[in-house]
Amino acid sequence: MTLWKKSLPGKTPPKSKNSPDLFAQLKGEITVMRKQGEPPVKDPHSFAQYMCDLCSTPHPVSGLRQCVLCGRWACNTCWKDEYYTCKSCAGIITIHTLKGNE
Ligand SMILES: [Zn+2]
Ligand SMILES: [Zn+2]
Repeated sequence: MTLWKKSLPGKTPPKSKNSPDLFAQLKGEITVMRKQGEPPVKDPHSFAQYMCDLCSTPHPVSGLRQCVLCGRWACNTCWKDEYYTCKSCAGIITIHTLKGNE
């Protein structure tokens, strides 16, 4: 007599790497500080300079980039080229990426 072990029906579908859900997940976790396209805050002490939303130092507008996730304006120091987001959001992405590899 052969005892056949029935394989249990899969409860959870296997997670695919780099699923498009990641972006949706991040969106749920990251607080949007500014709308996309909203200009950075002008430095009250100087003309033609804008504030970095992360470190609060003035920069020319060409030195700031808007994060696609939280909408904050970040200077070069606060920017993560790898993800094209600010460093703050990049940290959250890193956590999610690590989780996904488990
Ligand atoms: Zn900065
Ligand atoms: Zn951000």
